[in-house]
Amino acid sequence: MQVPFYIHSLDSSSAASVEAVLSTAFLTSGSVGRGVEAQLCEFFGTDHALLTNSWTNGAIATLLALDIGPGDEVIVPAMTFVATSNVVELVGARPVFVDVDPDTLLLRPEDVAAHVTPRTRAVIPVHLYGQMVDMAALRAAVGDDIALIEDAAHCFEGRLRGDTPGRHSDAAIFSFYATKNVTCGEGGAIVTRRGDLHERLMQTRLHGMSAGAIDRMRKGSYRHWDMACLGTKANLPDLLAALLPDQISGIRDRLALRNAVGERYRNALSNLGFRMQAAIPGCENAWHLLPIHVPPSVRDDVIGILNSEEIGVTVNYQSVPSMTYYREKYGFTDSDFPVSQEWGGGTLSLPLYPGLGEAEQDFVLDVLRDRVAPLLGDFRERAVG
Ligand SMILES: *Cc1c(COP(=O)(O)O)cnc(C)c1O
Repeated sequence: MQVPFYIHSLDSSSAASVEAVLSTAFLTSGSVGRGVEAQLCEFFGTDHALLTNSWTNGAIATLLALDIGPGDEVIVPAMTFVATSNVVELVGARPVFVDVDPDTLLLRPEDVAAHVTPRTRAVIPVHLYGQMVDMAALRAAVGDDIALIEDAAHCFEGRLRGDTPGRHSDAAIFSFYATKNVTCGEGGAIVTRRGDLHERLMQTRLHGMSAGAIDRMRKGSYRHWDMACLGTKANLPDLLAALLPDQISGIRDRLALRNAVGERYRNALSNLGFRMQAAIPGCENAWHLLPIHVPPSVRDDVIGILNSEEIGVTVNYQSVPSMTYYREKYGFTDSDFPVSQEWGGGTLSLPLYPGLGEAEQDFVLDVLRDRVAPLLGDFRERAVG
């Protein structure tokens, strides 16, 4: 049975929204995007939201807006996607990697506090797989002078004790990349409660210009603009923004479906001896990914077995400091971030999407029980911690 890793939830009903944009004179960032930004403000209960063409460019615009660059340090988790630390490198600052909690795989506020130095300007906590870092505790641990920038690429619809991303941070950044829970193919968004940061972001998102195209052309009369700070090119065109209103309004319904699939995996797999991310009390999981962990010595065999049964899998993620670029630049070894190294060496992610049927899921579980669980053997007792 073929079980793809992911099937997106866009369909031809979105074609009409794209066509509506095509029928106007304006293809880039305009009134459609402004409407989506208002929708995001409402969803997250913030005063400001900015659409971007990716999480990555949104994060670069945010670091530029906060004047973070050479000489500055930004704390990031070792267990994440490479983009989280790459953006710090790209603005010339230094990423300071911190290992994660062995059960939740998230940054712990006390570990972050232990890595703060006089050069620390920001922390980028990652709500890995869909469960949120305790942002209130993180804020209390680092104080008000260090910026908190949430990597909420996995957590559009997740909550912790009722708090959404953006509640306790300077900014929360989302990804609308093809496989994310809300998608327009490529895209992203920044939400912030800070009016001053929003004003800066309006510039750093678009070359540093003091007025975007929609305002330069307002009512057919040209207006001059200035450039007072350095910006990048991170705005989202209306052609893609047109796909987002339905994605956002349907997110709670899709979350219910993801939740059912996720809980079903969790119940079945906990009996089979696979290690999984611990469920965090008070956390509404966005269920972006469903990773399991097997002994690193058999991980690639397990991927081979699942692929031979036509089951799609990915790895999220190898420990970032173990990547050649970071190892060579900073001289990291495998023992520097033991939890991330061990999890990254043994993890693989199973198919998880709203339309995943029970028959398909049962097939994945059957293969795991019949062909994979026996490989765990003696390792089962030696759960890492
Ligand atoms: C997908 C992802 C990103 C990057 O998102 P883009 O929109 O592709 O730039 C960053 N962080 C995490 C954790 C991600 O999963």
